[in-house]
Amino acid sequence: MSNYRVQNPATGEIVETFPEATNAEIESTVTAAHSTYLTWKDTDIQERASVVRRAAEIFHERKDELSRTISVEMGKSYAESVDEVEFAADIIDYYGVHGPSLATDYQIPSTIPGTARIESLPVGALLGVMPWNFPYYQVARFAAPNLVLGNTIMLKHADICGRSALLIEEIFLAAGVPAGGYSHLFAGHDQIASVIADPRVQGVSLTGSERAGAIIGAQAGQNLKKAVLELGGIDPMVVLDADDVAAVAREAWEFRTYNAGQVCNSNKRLIVMDDIYDDFVAELVKLGTGLTPGDQLNLGEGEYVPLSSRAAAETVDAQVRKAVSEGARVLVGGELGEGPAAYYAPTVLVDVPRDSESYGEEIFGPVATVFKVSSDEEALELANDCALGLGGSVFSSDEGRADRVASRLEVGMTHVNTIAAEAAELPFGGVKRSGFGREMGPIGMGEFVNKRLHFIA
Ligand code: NAP
Repeated sequence: MSNYRVQNPATGEIVETFPEATNAEIESTVTAAHSTYLTWKDTDIQERASVVRRAAEIFHERKDELSRTISVEMGKSYAESVDEVEFAADIIDYYGVHGPSLATDYQIPSTIPGTARIESLPVGALLGVMPWNFPYYQVARFAAPNLVLGNTIMLKHADICGRSALLIEEIFLAAGVPAGGYSHLFAGHDQIASVIADPRVQGVSLTGSERAGAIIGAQAGQNLKKAVLELGGIDPMVVLDADDVAAVAREAWEFRTYNAGQVCNSNKRLIVMDDIYDDFVAELVKLGTGLTPGDQLNLGEGEYVPLSSRAAAETVDAQVRKAVSEGARVLVGGELGEGPAAYYAPTVLVDVPRDSESYGEEIFGPVATVFKVSSDEEALELANDCALGLGGSVFSSDEGRADRVASRLEVGMTHVNTIAAEAAELPFGGVKRSGFGREMGPIGMGEFVNKRLHFIA
């Protein structure tokens, strides 16, 4: 039976199912992606960019439908879905506008007689494997730059995002991407392995868990394919001091509970200086008190959304219970709703022991875990004591102090006095077990490019 199905996590109702692709369908999709690449790469880059810009316009035009679709698929509030559709459209438009200038050829000074030019050429058909937490944004940041570059895209989306996956394909084709230039695959994991192994496929980009990263990274390595891996994060938010402690706590809570906490670069560890710790935690507890489950399509004040699935909510519940069994304390929340819905109450968790298993685990849900420290060095040591290294932030009313601590974080993205900075032009990605490679910005635009040396003696 196919795993591809839309199931409203607020009710458990199965809304739609999709058959898994046959091997013959996968083969014909790879054939089309490769043969379309052979003409798409020679299409003028300005023409490719204009097709991508048109896709961004369609995203805007169909915003309501696109937003409702993902709210039903994975549970985010309608308002957050609208934010996401607009951001995805902005990203697509940005690469339609600026992509050609990010992919230009340039000359390098040569120490031997002759002229050395570096050309930016597409590499071929690419595979994207994407998660459900931001169904449009994740695809936009991979597909838009690569379509402008002249690569073609096959995309395997998360099994709960079949409808949004089809809408994305429909929009790129309606915008003028030729058939085979962008294709959605209802593929099983074994079929994905065969696509990665196919000699016509030149690279794979995965956004997802460490587990999937290890499998897909190994498959890419075995087949000598380039891979970009955007994996998990347990990002530290270090609060050294604050003029308004409650305001920083509110910012922390808002970001930590955004998208029901299912954000890779969410501030999953709040590391707070001892002299403001009590006030900070008290504000979090106030914010988490008296909340009730709500309808994600019509969310009221004081209501929270479901997680993406019942299984996801049960996983978060099990992780919090384990942390408690290891010595942590729940100050508010910590409640799993009745099945088959997927509600888990926004939670404040403290006193997670450093030597516990829970300490190193990413909780992909609305759980604010707070740690107390007594010096900048201790904060830094705790922040860097992590197998993952996606992003991190440091807050202080003394910007220089925050900057000094932030500059020593072992992560791919550091922020001072803001939790995250996200825009179409800013590169996104991590170090350590958060993966390798970047998406977006000039660095992301360069991942699947043949930077060919052209030397004229
Ligand atoms: P996941 O289970 O790894 O799934 C992500 C995608 O990988 C889905 O399309 C999934 O397909 C596919 N997949 C999983 N195992 C596979 C395999 N063996 N072969 C082929 N495809 C496979 O991730 P998740 O739990 O849904 O997403 C949450 C994780 O993603 C968290 O760790 C989060 O931090 C991370 N994340 C990272 C970023 C970033 O930019 N760094 C952004 C968002 C999320 P199926 O659905 O069919 O299993």
